Amino acid sequence: MALRIKFRALLTMGGDPIENGVLTVDKGAIVEIATQPENAPATLDLSDCLLMPGFVNAHCHLSLTALEKKIAPPDSFAEWVRALISLNSSLDNESRIQGMRSGAEVMRRSGVTALGDFVADPELLQAVGDLGFRSVLFLEAIGFRSEKAQALCEELEKVLIRGGFSPLCQLGLAPHAPYSVSPDLFRCLAQLAQKFHCPISCHVAEIKEESRFLVLGDDSLEELLKERSAWDPKWQPPYKSPVQYLSSLGILDRLIAVHCNFVADDLEIMAKKKVSAVFCPQSTAWFGRKQFMPVRALLDRGVTVALGTDSLASNDSLNFLDELRMADKLLPDVSRKEILTMATRGGAEALGLQCGTLMPGQKADLIGFRVPPFYSGPWWDVPFEPQRREVDFYRVDGNPDGGLLP
Ligand SMILES: [Zn+2]
Repeated sequence: MALRIKFRALLTMGGDPIENGVLTVDKGAIVEIATQPENAPATLDLSDCLLMPGFVNAHCHLSLTALEKKIAPPDSFAEWVRALISLNSSLDNESRIQGMRSGAEVMRRSGVTALGDFVADPELLQAVGDLGFRSVLFLEAIGFRSEKAQALCEELEKVLIRGGFSPLCQLGLAPHAPYSVSPDLFRCLAQLAQKFHCPISCHVAEIKEESRFLVLGDDSLEELLKERSAWDPKWQPPYKSPVQYLSSLGILDRLIAVHCNFVADDLEIMAKKKVSAVFCPQSTAWFGRKQFMPVRALLDRGVTVALGTDSLASNDSLNFLDELRMADKLLPDVSRKEILTMATRGGAEALGLQCGTLMPGQKADLIGFRVPPFYSGPWWDVPFEPQRREVDFYRVDGNPDGGLLP
């Protein structure tokens, strides 16, 4: 039976706010948004709520949630990587799954309905898939020694053939970063992605050392790779920026590029290749980054920008409302409407999901915020209000089990 939800206001993320209407949901999808609903009885009265599409967390590593507050902001990126690897290797999958569930609950309560998650261990795919988010689970690949590329790709292909873990989940591929993935592995992953029609996401231009390593061919990351027995003596620097390098490997088209802190000279090619950029506000603040993604310039060139939490190895919370407020603080030249668009529609476009806007035919992934009866401020401001820790209404795929309101 169709569900008719009466609302006080609604952000479609495809136009102006709509006030005092009824949203009709049937079989998990939006059927109609009516603005003159006098004759239509509602089956759910949310006339004290602002409704909007659920948030899309476009970049996360949920399996690292068990590391919550175990790593302090480091002096160098290499120091952080060492701490992360050492602590992560001390975890077993049972504690990782426990952490994932608690992290998922924080995300859910703060309005995340869809997720792009990097999964390093295929054994964990089912557990992430069972969390109930609409999601793209990116199989993470790390390997800087060229001779390992073929075998790793064959393993990943087996996982792709095995396929979906829940009707709400798709698989993608995630080469970790240009300094941790060999050119051969990048090429092989690009071919796999083409064969299986799956999206690719990668950390791109996150640190200055990465750019120096690729552009100048210096040894800033060599030591770290040698420690991990991952250094390839046959490595030849491409003398290109991270973005140009990925383009030369055939992996830049429609890439979901995470961080992009050092891409100021590559904006045109990112727009041309339809790259999506994922900005991680709290992770950026946690590292104390002075230079970070040029979000305004990317938006001005029509690049899709999404928001992500990254992991609790570089963030103190997976609360997505905190991400919105941090984005608002870090991006004074980006409006709240644009930040909400990044948090919903931008994430859905980046991940290729049929959500992120509320229009007929779209999936009914909805969240709601209770507002006082005489609220008269801009509707775009409501999710940013400092006292808000959770949403008051939540549905994924129209599923009533997700509703948080009594
Ligand atoms: Zn990440």
